[in-house]
Amino acid sequence: RGTMTVGDLAKLLHKDASEVIKKLISLGIMATINQEIEMEAILLIAAEYGSEVEVKIPVEEDDFEKDEEKDEEADLLPRPPVVTIMGHVDHGKTTLLDAIRKTNVTGGEAGGITQHIGAYQVEINQKKITFLDTPGHEAFTLMRARGAQVTDITIIVVAADDGVMPQTVEAVNHAKAAGVPIIVAVNKIDKPEANPDKIKQELTEYGLVPEEWGGDTIFVNVSAKQRIGLEGLLEMILLVAEVNDYKANPDKRARGTVIEAELDKGKGPVARILVQHGTLKIGDAFVAGNCFGRVRAMVNDRGRRIKEAGPSTPVEITGLTEVPQAGDPFMAFEDERKARAIAERRAIKHRQSELGANTRVTLDDLYKHI
Ligand code: GDP
Ligand code: MG
Repeated sequence: RGTMTVGDLAKLLHKDASEVIKKLISLGIMATINQEIEMEAILLIAAEYGSEVEVKIPVEEDDFEKDEEKDEEADLLPRPPVVTIMGHVDHGKTTLLDAIRKTNVTGGEAGGITQHIGAYQVEINQKKITFLDTPGHEAFTLMRARGAQVTDITIIVVAADDGVMPQTVEAVNHAKAAGVPIIVAVNKIDKPEANPDKIKQELTEYGLVPEEWGGDTIFVNVSAKQRIGLEGLLEMILLVAEVNDYKANPDKRARGTVIEAELDKGKGPVARILVQHGTLKIGDAFVAGNCFGRVRAMVNDRGRRIKEAGPSTPVEITGLTEVPQAGDPFMAFEDERKARAIAERRAIKHRQSELGANTRVTLDDLYKHI
């Protein structure tokens, strides 16, 4: 509009209003705190304080961490490992994910129609494994970029008829940077030209040395297409899980990560989330990213409606007011009012961080504020 009050200008400049008023008077402008002053005066004052003014925006600690109920050692129970599959294009990630999904269906749930909810669970030797079924690096990189650590174990797929390729190396580097254990699945061993030893040899250069050569990396030969070696791969995952002793407290408000979210024509905003701590229940108020809501319905990876979901369980939920983003943190709160307040605070914080945590306000910026 071209004007702003003396009080607002003082706030923007991080100065006392009385000091700004004094400056105005010295410039021959008589003003009170609530008085609207014109652009020229605003610029004069800004120039008096130097054309650039430092505006500090405090970066708050993460709300969810702070609000999460603390765990006692005795509350922690074993949970299924969460596994991601990475590797070079065409080495067989999608085929392997599909093959594993079909390997096994929990006894009672046999025949259930599998549904795409961003992740699925299989069971072997009465133990569950959760797979994130967005293959590729995007999901992993995106999640990590947003500070979400969802993966416990990474499977790196390398085609035995090909070799270590750029995206293979990238996958190794991602997994190492995240400190996540790696299992190498040497795929396509059904092919006559397959040469698993060549893959092992090549990967030693990246620090992945097979156990039989004195290293500590697990290599498993598989054929995703012919479904060879899949049980062995799953057993190796369970072995790594056992060694790492993954645990979570199922007995508290849920906290997790949004894996995917979209606006569904019929259902409205839906989010596919991985519960990582606690148990999510129908009716729970929650925050997902900057959105809030109340869990209206939950569907599992078999397309079944469920009432609650514990640690490492992927679920699709409805009951959001907006669509969150993949990688957004998720947490249940005591009530909807609290959830709404937290979501609003996060939205403001988000806008602030887009401006930069430590913004230098220039005359140009001042114009924008007016
Ligand atoms: P992605 O790009 O890593 O997801 O690879 P895909 O799963 O799409 O597989 C790429 C191609 O390799 C497809 O034509 C698959 O049918 C084929 N493929 C995948 N796994 C195997 C395997 O174990 N053996 C053979 N012979 N072909 C495979
Ligand atoms: Mg694929």
